[in-house]
Amino acid sequence: MIRSVAVIGSGTMGNGIAHVFAQYGYDVLLVDIAQAALDKALATIGKNLARQVEKGGISEEDKNAALGRIRTSTEYGSELAACDLVVEAATENPQIKFDIFRHLDSICKPEAILASNTSSISITKIASVTSRPDKVIGMHFMNPVPVMKLVEVIRGYSTSDEVCAAVMQMSQSLGKVPVEVNDYPGFVANKILMPMINEAIITLHEGVAGVEEIDTVMKLGMAHPMGPLQLADFIGLDVCLAILKVLQDGFGDPKYAPCPLLVNMVTAGKLGAKSSEGFYIHTPGSKELKVAPNFAR
Ligand code: NAD
Repeated sequence: MIRSVAVIGSGTMGNGIAHVFAQYGYDVLLVDIAQAALDKALATIGKNLARQVEKGGISEEDKNAALGRIRTSTEYGSELAACDLVVEAATENPQIKFDIFRHLDSICKPEAILASNTSSISITKIASVTSRPDKVIGMHFMNPVPVMKLVEVIRGYSTSDEVCAAVMQMSQSLGKVPVEVNDYPGFVANKILMPMINEAIITLHEGVAGVEEIDTVMKLGMAHPMGPLQLADFIGLDVCLAILKVLQDGFGDPKYAPCPLLVNMVTAGKLGAKSSEGFYIHTPGSKELKVAPNFAR
């Protein structure tokens, strides 16, 4: 029975994951190495819960109760060691994740489940640095976590049936729809999404059409809520590039080779919304999108 949960990393995903667990009644310990990240995460969770109250989704009491269930820490201490489930959502860097899982394995109780929200790192590899690979699993939440229904539940090579069933059931208790997939590069979501985004960038690079034209075809023609280039800006072009490299290395197939335009943009520091410019110019607090000067037609 999973009651107490720890979330490691309080960035974009960690704050959303902590928010959802707390909203659905779990005690949450949010851990980050940076106090500033924890402070920012609490402010974001408060703001997002307040928006849910305004929209009539939850009551003011629900909001306060959820906030009351979240504690924060910069330490991997005894409270973390006592948790039933740990969801790691730290920086997407294999060495950082291996160090975290080695440490968690050494301090957490033997029956604790250790999950990772990684977008692209092998769950089997993460599990291999622990002494409990049967209790290591992927829980791939989507951004923004409080809004998106899907949790891709990734079974590592050694993940047990019991652990997988417990995580599927617990994901449902968060109002999510869990989908079980096996541990191969990109899992399902990114194995399909990233080649589509890459193809949209290749289409732009070849001059077949402009940024807005490509996005409009995919929005109106395929009923996608957002075009692939806008989505790439939202995800982060550096993140897209890193995942394409994982697919290319993992499958050894040139079809995953990142478009040279994507490589150039990342090298130039044009990372999408987080750097204010990618395929579009992004202005904080505004939903208006203007095509970036390099792609003006
Ligand atoms: P982020 O950079 O916003 O946040 C990462 C946080 O981890 C930072 O606050 C950092 O201080 C903290 N951190 C680093 N090392 C740590 C450690 N040893 N212990 C505790 N905290 C540590 O990153 P993010 O976008 O939230 O991504 C987190 C994870 O979620 C990654 O694995 C990423 O692939 C995955 N993911 C991201 C998205 C997305 O859209 N951003 C979607 C799905 C999955």
